[in-house]
Amino acid sequence: MKIQAINGFKDILPGNVIRWQYIERCARDIFERFGMQEIRMPIMEKTELFVRSIGEATDVVEKEMYTFIDKGITMRPEATASIMRAFIEHGLHVQQPVQRLYTIGPMFRHERPQKGRLRQFHQLDAEIIGAVEPRIDAELIAMGQMLLDELGLKTSLEINSLGCPVCRPPFKARLITYLEQSIEHLCEDCKRRTHTNPLRVLDCKKPSCRALVVEAPSMLEALCPECDQHFQEVKEALQALRVPFQINRFMVRGLDYYTRTTFEFLTSDLGAQAAVGAGGRYDGLIEQLGGPPLSGIGFAMGMERIALLMEQDTESHLPAASMDIFLAALGSETLAPCSLLAHLLRQQGIRAAIDYSGRSLKAQLKQAGRVNARFTLIVGVDEWSRQEGILRDMTNQVQQPFDMSGTPEEQSLRLKQLLQTTIH
Ligand SMILES: [Zn+2]
Ligand SMILES: [Zn+2]
Repeated sequence: MKIQAINGFKDILPGNVIRWQYIERCARDIFERFGMQEIRMPIMEKTELFVRSIGEATDVVEKEMYTFIDKGITMRPEATASIMRAFIEHGLHVQQPVQRLYTIGPMFRHERPQKGRLRQFHQLDAEIIGAVEPRIDAELIAMGQMLLDELGLKTSLEINSLGCPVCRPPFKARLITYLEQSIEHLCEDCKRRTHTNPLRVLDCKKPSCRALVVEAPSMLEALCPECDQHFQEVKEALQALRVPFQINRFMVRGLDYYTRTTFEFLTSDLGAQAAVGAGGRYDGLIEQLGGPPLSGIGFAMGMERIALLMEQDTESHLPAASMDIFLAALGSETLAPCSLLAHLLRQQGIRAAIDYSGRSLKAQLKQAGRVNARFTLIVGVDEWSRQEGILRDMTNQVQQPFDMSGTPEEQSLRLKQLLQTTIH
């Protein structure tokens, strides 16, 4: 019996890892242009952290977390709560009042696996903590947009405001009153949500719920003056940065901690419209977790979805993995000098491949093609006795003699120089 990976947990094979590395490189590069610093947290946290931050009545906490009940620990379902925990625990704000942090890594949620949604999934997560200005919201959103643009993805941006502890509770009460009037038309989930988490009803995808929600009161019309002004300024700041967006008054996020600005980067290239990334402001969260009264805003992007979109769109632009040189040692006496030569080349930063099986020249050239080698150095017994090898350019099959006299160090330096002058 073969053992297979767990349902919803997936290997990322070498051919695909190239794409993942490319996404990570782009993300680090762009995040660092915005002064973001990387932070790495453990994958497990005390369960209480997620219950207190994400919210008890959310889908994530109610049914999607991987929890070791007897140990009271949970595999993180998202990164923001862990970043806040680390921020508070290490008092990061003491050194620098505004912290710009990002992290890249796996998250875990027990959902029904589907295209672009796995139980172990990976996120790029960026947070700016300790700043309240609307321009910060715009800058963070613009950073996310810049990354998606640089990756060549076509996405649209939607924004909304969820208000604050002053204006949201009265709005919630109005929304509940409205939903109760037609509660028999809501789906089973929304009947329950009407009292536990009524905002979630606004983004239910079921047609019967959607029909009701169109007429529902809007949070945007219920914002307090401060929240209203914040939202106006975010919109103006986005326009000033030339970031196109649309307002979606039905957008809520699945996590309780969001306040004011929320946003989603959406694509319609994965079947139904799906979020590639999403985030928002969380002004009460840090205090709620026992930290100082600081505000924050952040987003997470799904790497599986980004990788899928790139697979569909831009595969040809990705550089293939390749070797600089393949050493074809023919005959047993050339194996030792060739393996030392490969080792010395690798020490000097050259990507060198070698085959120890003593196979025929034809078989070894085939292998050189498989590893995408730019050159092959052929060292036969006769050539070796004359201190010579043959350097073959694999792109045009042109061959030239290569001088193999001198010490192994001299040979490797000469070869390195030759490779560098020929490649450039
Ligand atoms: Zn408000
Ligand atoms: Zn519903």
